[in-house]
Amino acid sequence: MSTGPAMAAPDRLEPVRRFLNTLDIEAGTDAITDPAGLATWLTASGLWRGDAPVTDDDLRRARELREALRAAAVANHDRAALPPPVLAVLDAAAERAGVRISFTPDRGWLATAGATGVDGATGELVLRVTGSMADGTWPRLKICASDACRWAFYDSSRSGTGKWCSMQLCGNRAKQEAWRGRRREAG
Ligand SMILES: [Zn+2]
Repeated sequence: MSTGPAMAAPDRLEPVRRFLNTLDIEAGTDAITDPAGLATWLTASGLWRGDAPVTDDDLRRARELREALRAAAVANHDRAALPPPVLAVLDAAAERAGVRISFTPDRGWLATAGATGVDGATGELVLRVTGSMADGTWPRLKICASDACRWAFYDSSRSGTGKWCSMQLCGNRAKQEAWRGRRREAG
């Protein structure tokens, strides 16, 4: 599925959605398969302003974080509990980012990533997730239920129970498959 305005997330969450879609299952492409690819993506996203070389460990951790966040977005479909391995990856990313909290005069707070480099940039993604959890938008970030698609989308349906990135494409495809399945069962 390609990016369209209908499935974009609120500003704060949009970089997270784009990060999840660096893996495009339908197209069979992955934008972060090597350190150079990760550096390019982070720079283009505006999350990374460092010039330190991106290491293989940075790449491995970023890919782990992407998988954990994709699993968390899958769990948003039925608000399932997050598995402990997913939580461990998110916790570790927050810790490496050196998250700091500063309280503000208006009884609020600001959370920032103290780390620089890739740890700081991926920490910024984690902070956008916590911010989205705090403002209630997080449960709407989902992975398309179509196995052929698996595109990360923001569910802007009124009920918040959308399953597909596009009702016209993936939703209809799923319904046609279910219909064919019923016909086969019927003989
Ligand atoms: Zn889809």
